[in-house]
Amino acid sequence: MSLLVVGSIGLDTVKTPVEERSDLLGGSASYAALGASFFTPVNLVGIVGDDFPQSEFQAWESRGIDTRGVQRVHGNTFRWSGEYAWDLNTRETRSVALNVFETFSPTLPEEYRATPFVLLANIAPNLQAHVLDQMNEPRFVLADTMDLWIKTTRSDLDRLLKRVDLLILNDSEAREITQETSLIRAGRKIQQSGPRFVAIKKGEHGALLFGQDEFFSCGAYPLEDIHDPTGAGDTFAGGLGGFVSAHAQGEVTFDLLRRAMIYGSVLASFCVEAFSLERLRHLRSDEISERYKMFKAMSQFESISR
Ligand code: AMP
Repeated sequence: MSLLVVGSIGLDTVKTPVEERSDLLGGSASYAALGASFFTPVNLVGIVGDDFPQSEFQAWESRGIDTRGVQRVHGNTFRWSGEYAWDLNTRETRSVALNVFETFSPTLPEEYRATPFVLLANIAPNLQAHVLDQMNEPRFVLADTMDLWIKTTRSDLDRLLKRVDLLILNDSEAREITQETSLIRAGRKIQQSGPRFVAIKKGEHGALLFGQDEFFSCGAYPLEDIHDPTGAGDTFAGGLGGFVSAHAQGEVTFDLLRRAMIYGSVLASFCVEAFSLERLRHLRSDEISERYKMFKAMSQFESISR
């Protein structure tokens, strides 16, 4: 099985209360593809400019990420800059330069069209839809979004939701899209607008998963040192999607999504331990399994030793 990932590929400048770094590899698709690559082969779709380092293509390919769907065109790569407050949860976008994204129209290589699982990482919903238009009936479609699209391209987003099986969004976005204060009501209301499943991320407070008649809540893996929260949400989505692609037999079930959500949380916890994709680049599968076990043990409702 394999997972198609489309989203932004960019160069980021990130400022935390203690450090500032620029020209970092970033973008929703970069994080999501790397997160997913721990579980499944990935077909990546995106666009970069001629300032983008060629070495990243080699790094992707060495992780089983197919880059035939990444266009390199004349111009500058997408750039984003953000600044975090002391809580490392609150972030302000300082600047965005769409650059080569302004004229991007994703075209799938013929070999990608039958990919069974699709992760529409965060980009404009009309581009996400354009990717779906080119696919041969994927088995399961996951999509991420952001407040910008809820505010500026709401009708495109509403149309897209009807074609999505699992929508992943954060708590403030879920409230904004539904105008509900309760996240439980918000999750249920989003389901009525299309997606059978909804995952609401709550940053350091974990995530919620809504199924038809089922509901699951998990915490976030507790970390002492967070260096850069950028990309945690995209890595969560990538880990979740990658796990589903690797383990789905027949229909994607709530139980599978529940396990996938834990793996997504584990991957996200590694992502924030270093700037950009540095921790994920050096991550080993045995470290993922070890943290999964720890996370599971920590989440037991009752302690087994009395
Ligand atoms: P996250 O921290 O999961 O919200 O994702 C951060 C990543 O999203 C950064 O690496 C940015 O390059 C990327 N990003 C920021 N704004 C946008 C946007 N408008 N469209 C697509 N990607 C974006």
